[in-house]
Amino acid sequence: MSISKHGCPVCGFPEFEALDDAGCVTYDISPSCGCESGCDYEEDASQEKLRQRRDTWLNVKQGAWWNSRVPPPPSWNPMQQLSAAGLHAEAAIQPMSGLRPAMAHH
Ligand SMILES: [Zn+2]
Repeated sequence: MSISKHGCPVCGFPEFEALDDAGCVTYDISPSCGCESGCDYEEDASQEKLRQRRDTWLNVKQGAWWNSRVPPPPSWNPMQQLSAAGLHAEAAIQPMSGLRPAMAHH
């Protein structure tokens, strides 16, 4: 199964092409999450791998806008972007609490 051509498969940023017309990685870097097509994932990247990239972006980078030279769109919201792209966020950003979300209930 191939990843979707349009939009970042990691963060769902819509103004991004992960694959070219031939279905090959573009080596473009998503300005939203900073993941590079062809470096952070390949044409046939598994959903699990993409999810791991997504989790890293959300948990380690706090879902921050990556590109310092290109400003994010007005009222940019990483969680809204994810849901608009139909992507599932494993961890919710909790910037105010400073606490990591509980991983499991035992
Ligand atoms: Zn991205």
